[in-house]
Amino acid sequence: MSDINKNEHKHDMLGGRLCLDFANTVSWHDSSDKSQELLTSYEKLVNWSLHANILNKQQSLSLLKKAENQPVKAQEVLQQAIKLRESIFRIFSQVSNNKTPASIDLSILNEALGNAYRRMQIVPGENKFSLEFLNCEETLDGMLPPIVQSAIDILISEKELSRVKKCKGHPCGWLFLDTSRNGSRRWCSMADCGNRAKAKRFYHNKK
Ligand SMILES: [Zn+2]
Repeated sequence: MSDINKNEHKHDMLGGRLCLDFANTVSWHDSSDKSQELLTSYEKLVNWSLHANILNKQQSLSLLKKAENQPVKAQEVLQQAIKLRESIFRIFSQVSNNKTPASIDLSILNEALGNAYRRMQIVPGENKFSLEFLNCEETLDGMLPPIVQSAIDILISEKELSRVKKCKGHPCGWLFLDTSRNGSRRWCSMADCGNRAKAKRFYHNKK
């Protein structure tokens, strides 16, 4: 693979936080028969990570090259990423409903958290040090730690936690952080589920 298309997922970043956008890599996530997996290969996972600015182009190409040499491992990482994503999806689905997430899902996140923190390093800056994930391109699962951190950041913030919502366009299932001033956002996007709801209302009114 010589090049990657960064714009492939351009409509999919509506969650407002990395982990929520990651949870939204399934279309119609709340539907058992309509749902559609967007991360159908390791390549797609890398492509999405590039678009989400977790990886730069050079890191992405380097991971894709590694994956070519370790196809079985790459497939395992994809499965691991999907397992993590589904736990993030269920955790924040519960949160958006003011319910406590299942302990099995928190265990999956906690396990990923251990791996993520092992990858963190203190890096000197101008006036202070910062905590960074270095060398994301060194291992095939290098894109996962920043996603885990994003989930943790929401969970430990009372303000953000109360702003996690799920799109009202059932069974869309997409999650987002409502940053509107009065907390009135209802749809993943006005252009998509918002419009669909409007059209439906119009139809019912006519009837
Ligand atoms: Zn929606």
